[in-house]
Amino acid sequence: MSGENPAPVGFEQHDHAACVGTGLAAAEARCAAEGLRLTPVRRKVLEILLQEHRALGAYAILDLLREAGFGSQPPVAYRALDFLAEHGFVHKIERLNAFVACAHPGTSHMPAFMICRLCEAVAETRSTPARGSLGEAARAAGFQIERTVVEAEGVCPKCIDKVSS
Ligand SMILES: [Zn+2]
Ligand SMILES: [Zn+2]
Ligand SMILES: [Zn+2]
Repeated sequence: MSGENPAPVGFEQHDHAACVGTGLAAAEARCAAEGLRLTPVRRKVLEILLQEHRALGAYAILDLLREAGFGSQPPVAYRALDFLAEHGFVHKIERLNAFVACAHPGTSHMPAFMICRLCEAVAETRSTPARGSLGEAARAAGFQIERTVVEAEGVCPKCIDKVSS
């Protein structure tokens, strides 16, 4: 769990039980350290998203919350998602208007996403705009980048056979 730019989580075979367990543990530890309240509904929404490496919209999350016996009002899910996104436990995928659990919890980073257009799997890696051509252009313009949205659409390794002829 170290290194500058870890391999994107989500497309490869991996110990998925560990994804969920370490993701929840990291969120709990950070909330305890920073005095944030990880309420049962916030924790459940995070758990739901950690179980998928796929983006889920608010309504899909709401359905799963309802199945798990939580409140069924949309504001409940929206408020939990706002909290989780604000603190970086989940990220919003603008393109899909949906959310994914952060694959690198506990570190401050700008995410970059690879989104499979066939199965909607999402893998997260880190974006380092300051080092790329955008960073160079920004420096030349005297512009300081605070946030970028990097969402690449394509085909994941599992689906590649379906498109190659
Ligand atoms: Zn996993
Ligand atoms: Zn992240
Ligand atoms: Zn795919």
